[in-house]
Amino acid sequence: MKSKKKALICGISGQDGSYLAQLLLNKGYEVYGTARDAQMSTFYNLARLGIRDRVQLESMAVNDFRSVLQTLAKVKPDELYNLAGQSSVGLSFQQPVETLESISVGNLNLLEAIRFIGLPIRFYNAGSSECFGDTGGAAADETTPFRPRSPYAVAKSAAFWEIANYREAYGLFACSGILFNHESPLRPERFVTRKIVATACRIAAGSAEKLHLGNIAICRDWGWAPEYVEAMWLMLQQEVPDDFVIATGTSHRLEEFVATAFDCVGLDWRNHVVTDPSLLRPTDISLGRGNPAKALKVLGWQARTGMAALVERMVRAEQGGAGDDGSA
Ligand code: NDP
Repeated sequence: MKSKKKALICGISGQDGSYLAQLLLNKGYEVYGTARDAQMSTFYNLARLGIRDRVQLESMAVNDFRSVLQTLAKVKPDELYNLAGQSSVGLSFQQPVETLESISVGNLNLLEAIRFIGLPIRFYNAGSSECFGDTGGAAADETTPFRPRSPYAVAKSAAFWEIANYREAYGLFACSGILFNHESPLRPERFVTRKIVATACRIAAGSAEKLHLGNIAICRDWGWAPEYVEAMWLMLQQEVPDDFVIATGTSHRLEEFVATAFDCVGLDWRNHVVTDPSLLRPTDISLGRGNPAKALKVLGWQARTGMAALVERMVRAEQGGAGDDGSA
């Protein structure tokens, strides 16, 4: 009998890590996951999805080569997904060094450990649409140049080129998914989408608070996280490693996102939102939109959930009426 495929997910406690673990378990994988301190982490998202006891958890810090090497040598995964690292654009302005170390050095440590161990491990790197910066309204694809506008985007750009270089120089099976924003009820409230949904629901339930937001004129291409982890898996099932833009192809203003969330709870957003200059970023991207044509052509992947549907699912989950996968 063929033994089960083994996957190692670095950063399994996060939004994407938890959904990816669920997907891989459903596909029959043996799933291992890392957190910086697996003894201390609550793995709340895994518990929420009901899979906390079905994954094997290890402590590993991506920026510490010894711990990376030790974990890879122990687990010997067939597939390795690097989702770990400081993931907030806003926070990266306050913690630029931590951001660069956890994303760029962390990714390099994983690549070096794969080379050192010499096993045919397939590697996925969580790239980001933030690397594109402002494209002047054009939809970004795999040929669009990077013009990063935050320490986070600079770090993600370096990690992207590390992947490309190790693929070319050493023949590693390594891919970057250049993912546009993807949301779910597992997003922490630090991220604006979840903050909007959570605040709208609290106000609808009687809270007198206001929703404080920075620039609501920005446009983003928002997708549904459980669909985006399918794209990660598909990339590692191809014959040839490559990089892919993963997006819906449609952008909306943050203001539309806010209006939709308040509409879902029967309120007019204009009565509850305050613009707060302290929330403006030193540099921001006015419009983000991806062109996922290559993902459809090569991977057969396409986003199925648009902005309005994902806001509705997040609101229902916030109100306790739906599963985290969006099912009623
Ligand atoms: P999360 O923030 O939910 O998860 C990231 C994980 O990385 C956490 O579980 C945490 O694990 C670990 N982590 C956090 N900070 C650090 C740090 N300073 N050093 C090392 N590890 C850290 O992110 P998502 O699940 O949303 O995203 C997964 C990956 O995809 C990230 O790399 C993110 O940058 C990238 N991405 C996400 C997009 C999105 O829209 N969600 C879009 C494009 C890219 P622990 O604390 O347990 O160690």
